[in-house]
This record gives sequence, structure tokens and C-alpha cells, in this order.
Amino acid sequence: MTQSFQCSACGAPNQAEAGLKYMSCMYCGTNLTIPEHLRIKSQPKVKTNLKKTESSRPVEVEAVDILRKSQPIAIRAWNLFAMWTWLRWLIPTCLTIFIVLCVGFVIVLFVFS
Ligand SMILES: [Zn+2]
Repeated sequence: MTQSFQCSACGAPNQAEAGLKYMSCMYCGTNLTIPEHLRIKSQPKVKTNLKKTESSRPVEVEAVDILRKSQPIAIRAWNLFAMWTWLRWLIPTCLTIFIVLCVGFVIVLFVFS
């Protein structure tokens, strides 16, 4: 797989070769540094070869990806939890206020009768 990037000297599109950091422009011969994001994309074979030494890295990347994908669900779950917590607080508070008002009303009726 090859990725194209522009030559810094003449602006011509060059095809970055897999596994290479540097190459010369196909048109003007200028020494070019292959952009890092293209370098990573063009080196999948090197990564699989280093499986033993870098076994934790792909797992971490996958975990980050899963976290990123599950973030909206997590936010929704958190919102539901926050609402539930709020309701759990609101309902007893309303009941307490209601009971206090009733008791107060009864006391007022008792006192004035
Ligand atoms: Zn060039």
C-alpha cells in the first residue's frame, strides 16, 4: 500500500513507500522526509513482525478505540444515573415538605379551633 504526499521543493505528488522514512522526489530529486502519519499507515507488516516485543501496544490502542466508541453510551448512562439520583433525592424531599405542610396545617386548625 502506498500513500502520496507533496514534495516540499516542487510540490509534485510522491508515493511514499512502505517502511521508508526518507526518499528522493521522483521529479526533482530532492531528499524528502516521508510524513509520519503516512509512515505509520505504510508499515503494518513491521508491526506484526514486532508482535512479541510490542504485544501490549495494539491492546492499548484497541482499548482506547473501544472507550471512544462507548463514550456516548457512557454519557447517556451517566445522565440516566444522575437523573435517577436527582429523582431519588427529589421524591423524599417533596414527601417531607408535603408531610410538614400537612402537619403544620393540622396544627394551625387545632390551634385556631
Ligand atoms: Zn520534487
